[in-house]
Amino acid sequence: MAQPVVEIENLVKRYKELVALDHLNLRIEEGEIFGLLGPNGSGKTTTISCILALLSFDKGSVKVFGKEIEPDSYDLKRNIGVVLQNVAVFEALTVYENIDYFCGLYIKDKATRKQYVEEAVRFVGLEDYRKFLPKKLSGGLLRRLNIACGIAHKPKLIIMDEPTVAVDPQSRNKILEGIKQLNEQGATIIYTSHYMEEVEQICTQIAIVDKGRKIAEGTKEELKLMIRMGEKIHLDILDITPEQIEEIRGLEHVYQVTYEDNQLQISCNRGKHNLVRILAYMQEHDIGFGRVYSELPTLNDVFLEITGKELRD
Ligand code: ADP
Ligand code: MG
Repeated sequence: MAQPVVEIENLVKRYKELVALDHLNLRIEEGEIFGLLGPNGSGKTTTISCILALLSFDKGSVKVFGKEIEPDSYDLKRNIGVVLQNVAVFEALTVYENIDYFCGLYIKDKATRKQYVEEAVRFVGLEDYRKFLPKKLSGGLLRRLNIACGIAHKPKLIIMDEPTVAVDPQSRNKILEGIKQLNEQGATIIYTSHYMEEVEQICTQIAIVDKGRKIAEGTKEELKLMIRMGEKIHLDILDITPEQIEEIRGLEHVYQVTYEDNQLQISCNRGKHNLVRILAYMQEHDIGFGRVYSELPTLNDVFLEITGKELRD
């Protein structure tokens, strides 16, 4: 097997008595958009900080491009682009100067650097803001600047920690499209988020984390096959008796039924004709209904089934 870009083995990180990472194992292969999905406080930023040797840890090992990374591993860091959760740019420098500064840490040749900075400006769509100071930018544009600073030197590995938090939809789409494009150009991406929709949209491999532990990993399709739920059927119903609800609970493939605010929700495991069976029951018992729809499992359902709690906060 090819050597992984990042290999984390049995990583333990404590902040005093709090165990932030609890024997975490991750293997990130070249070419992936690797999603680290977990609720706030699950250890995503701590993991990133350990990968970058910004933080010491208590146990385990972290290898990047096959080598243990140290705080002064500049040869490794030249090939890593980082977009941290908290925007880190210089307030006294313009958009262009900021990108030029960060690019200049790794790219010494002036002509190449100029070309790279220009490409980064265009990549994040900040052409009209080259001379702006960061404080004049909206939240979304500031995020885009943060990204440009992280990727201008064309790193092989790009790590982005929740780059879309508190970003307007337009910037968000631009960021997500940008990540896919960087990946198509050859970069391996590590992307953390607590937004399952984004992770589903762009990630080729997903690790779901909770309390510093990996609770599941796979492609989105594989993750959804790990759980019992195959589909959830929703029906708007004004009138149904508790006995009827109990009967529905006993139908084939049905394992959970709730009725709240005139909406009946029926969780079914994978099986054919679930919806047909439910509708036949309604007809037989003369139960009137309004809107009906069936939903496939989401990553939130995966998280919920494994941990017993919602991914969203
Ligand atoms: P995430 O990025 O997934 O939101 P973090 O890695 O930031 O999670 O945090 C993991 C856990 O470690 C949380 O419980 C958080 O409160 C705690 N934590 C993070 N940084 C520190 C710190 N510097 N000191 C003490 N506790 C911390
Ligand atoms: Mg975080």
